[in-house]
Amino acid sequence: MAEPPAPGGPTEEDWAAAVAAVRSLPAGGRVLLICHVNPDGDALGSMLGFGLGLCRLGVRQLQATFPGPPEVPEPFRALPGLDLLVPAAQAIADPDLVLCFDAASESRLGDLVDRLDRAPAIVLDHHASNTRFGGIHLVDPAAAATSVVAERLLTRLGVPLDQEIAECLYVALATDTGSFRFDMTTPAVHEMAARLLATGIRPGEISRRIFDTRPFGAIRLYGEVLSRTTLDPAAAGGHGMVWTYATQDDLARHGQRPYVLEPLIDSVRCAAEADVSCVVKQTGTREWAVSMRSKGAVDVSRVAVALGGGGHRLAAGFTGRGTAHEVAAAIRDELDTALIDPEVPGQAGV
Ligand code: 5GP
Ligand code: MN
Repeated sequence: MAEPPAPGGPTEEDWAAAVAAVRSLPAGGRVLLICHVNPDGDALGSMLGFGLGLCRLGVRQLQATFPGPPEVPEPFRALPGLDLLVPAAQAIADPDLVLCFDAASESRLGDLVDRLDRAPAIVLDHHASNTRFGGIHLVDPAAAATSVVAERLLTRLGVPLDQEIAECLYVALATDTGSFRFDMTTPAVHEMAARLLATGIRPGEISRRIFDTRPFGAIRLYGEVLSRTTLDPAAAGGHGMVWTYATQDDLARHGQRPYVLEPLIDSVRCAAEADVSCVVKQTGTREWAVSMRSKGAVDVSRVAVALGGGGHRLAAGFTGRGTAHEVAAAIRDELDTALIDPEVPGQAGV
């Protein structure tokens, strides 16, 4: 069923340009797929699902990559299409076509950004804060996940869904909708999920692997990190902020990899007394990856952009510098000036 074009979403011309760019690949043409640094389920799932679709179209010279350490978090190590992945250092230097997935800005592509100048570049994304980098923009802020955009392009290219493609796109869709809980879980999202499930993929198995399986040490780590959660009811003009932090030493003591910290924000944001929640995760000496969520009163993407990052209204992030408490203080300062809209209810979404 055709959907009306979303305001601010891709136009018919954008879709036609993307289809033409894929169709005009020369025989033996080299394609490079890139997703954002520290990839999540939507970044990896939309990229690999689309990559498998290109394989079905007969594309043979195909690589998928992302900047930073070439480590795929354990929950995603069973994704179909992983054999397409190469470390960024080995990515084709002069591709004939580039596709970017789930990256709102060039900064999320690290050193791989130079590939965008060397070939036609199709950008598939759903961040309202997308900076419109690259040549062909398939950016739909109304889409629940980048995989929604990826599925539409596959359809236009005449690629039928199979179980491998569907599993990738399902992981992406389930991740970004918080397992179909957030506000952007529209009828169209459930219709897409139905198309994916109709291929025979097993949602219970997939969800257990992606969301519900972590090493025992991670559970002990969660206990420690959650026990130092702080509530600041006066922050954000009285809407409240709740936050905690995890250091590299915490990870080392429990023998854990950084990916295990990702679900913590979902526990912290449960606090009823705060609209804004944050988890400050150490990535280096005086460097922290910050996850922020809002229940609707505060546009955390504005806070994130002001602090050098980006994201969505209800889910955003940035790289913080200093001590964890200095990063939290910087957020609190920004919250004092952030747009506050007490009328808007909602739930976080990525
Ligand atoms: P998460 O907290 O799940 O890592 O990220 C939530 C959202 O914030 C993501 O969808 C992403 O768009 C955005 N985000 C997180 N960290 C960064 C960052 O360092 N820079 C930018 N530009 N966006 C980020
Ligand atoms: Mn996404």
